[in-house]
Amino acid sequence: MELDTKIQPQELLYYNKGHQVIICTSCQYAIQPTALDRHLKEIHALHRHLRQPYTDFAARLPLKQPSELVGTRRGTILGDDEDFPVPGLPVVSGLQCLDPDCGHLCVSVKRMQSHWKAEHHKSGCAALDWQTVPLQTFFRGNLLRYFTHPALSAVKLPDTSSESVDHHIRGIQDAWESHTDLKDSDKSLLAHYLQSTHLSLANRHGNARLWQINVPRIAASNSFLLYGILALSAQHLLNTEQGQSADRHRLMAMASEHHRKAMAVFEATIDAKPSSALECHGIIAFIHVNTLLYFSNYGIDSLSGIEDLFLADASQLGLGYLSSWLHYVRHGCHLVCGFWDTIGNGPLASLAASWDIPIIMEDERSSQIATILLSALDHDCFDGHQISDQLQTIYVQAANELALAINAAREFGSALTIWDAIRLWPLTLSLDFVDEVKKETPRSMTLLACYCIILENLDDVWFAEGLSTRLFSTTCRKLQKGQRELLHEVTQRIRSILREFILEI
Ligand SMILES: [Zn+2]
Ligand SMILES: [Zn+2]
Repeated sequence: MELDTKIQPQELLYYNKGHQVIICTSCQYAIQPTALDRHLKEIHALHRHLRQPYTDFAARLPLKQPSELVGTRRGTILGDDEDFPVPGLPVVSGLQCLDPDCGHLCVSVKRMQSHWKAEHHKSGCAALDWQTVPLQTFFRGNLLRYFTHPALSAVKLPDTSSESVDHHIRGIQDAWESHTDLKDSDKSLLAHYLQSTHLSLANRHGNARLWQINVPRIAASNSFLLYGILALSAQHLLNTEQGQSADRHRLMAMASEHHRKAMAVFEATIDAKPSSALECHGIIAFIHVNTLLYFSNYGIDSLSGIEDLFLADASQLGLGYLSSWLHYVRHGCHLVCGFWDTIGNGPLASLAASWDIPIIMEDERSSQIATILLSALDHDCFDGHQISDQLQTIYVQAANELALAINAAREFGSALTIWDAIRLWPLTLSLDFVDEVKKETPRSMTLLACYCIILENLDDVWFAEGLSTRLFSTTCRKLQKGQRELLHEVTQRIRSILREFILEI
């Protein structure tokens, strides 16, 4: 690669101070200190006298040896969330092995499959055994070692010392206090969140640190997220502690007041069209917090008098009757449109990752479940409710997707996350079907009740505890006696198929 010889040393050789490494901006990889002269000669065809200014420039810089940069454990080269992506190095799309003691990184499914055979002695499965991650490498050739965003890595960072976590937490508390007029009660809610609530939000994507440090840090500059976190902390206390009833009333009032404030500021922010990366990070985090708040409250406080049907909410006229949590989950990437890629590589990257792993699998079990659901749609008990061919197609599609979803949720077992449960069915449902839910048609109520089979798997996390039972009884109330009997039979048969296949394994 011939160089324009007028290019200044500091332009060609980008010095990354944090890692003490020189990155060639033309080749986009790091150069070992001892190999600089050869790089300029062989790759850029520079004559000796032209190389001098570059080697002089480099000689003045403190540089690390490649062994210090590459490290020994894969995936954990970087130590801090802010370090990824390293400027000057390209980001490629890759895969990470999810075995917690491994974390192997590579760039193709084929390589990952051979890794699983060689290292873990079985063929891995795309749904559970690896995840997509952005990758970078400092060097090429023999020294090529991929690394990813530390917050994304399945391999835990070499024990982040408690001192540095404390340091981050103190920073967060200071930042919150300087930006808002927090009451003492809010300060204790923040303390509870930082001590306890964040842990309950972490899932198999290893994002405890994201919820503990990154989200509250972003909240310090986005008041809607700050109120959202206070509401979540109050709700967490309410759902997990059996306190005095006076305390419970106080917590309930705080949770709903903070959530209300959060929604008002959030909607105003969206209306004003967000313009900064920080605001967009806040929006994405808030959509998650809002969903958790919605799930934990569903069916408990329906003060409006209009029954909220989980997917559809007749009071949400402006959102096309979609429930607001679902509306924002569906439209999050549009709301932050110019910043979506930045978010995918930034401090919230592992949240984005929990949305994009393909896990739908079609097999014998899913087709048996589909058969049960489809034949239920034609049952006599719906005789008074004729539907057009066009609607029939919409129901068939929703039923088929639900069958795949129930099947996939079974694969996950206790590893299922709330985001999996949402991604499996509600996220991709057609608006026509949601419209049927809004009209409370008996067929749509029946399918929605069957979705509770998936939600049951989440019963041991505090924000979804009892949700499946509450949604199931809401939908049942909309059905007539014969239809309820059908629903009972359908759910029994699906459950027995799910059990049968477990015995076979
Ligand atoms: Zn170069
Ligand atoms: Zn592995």
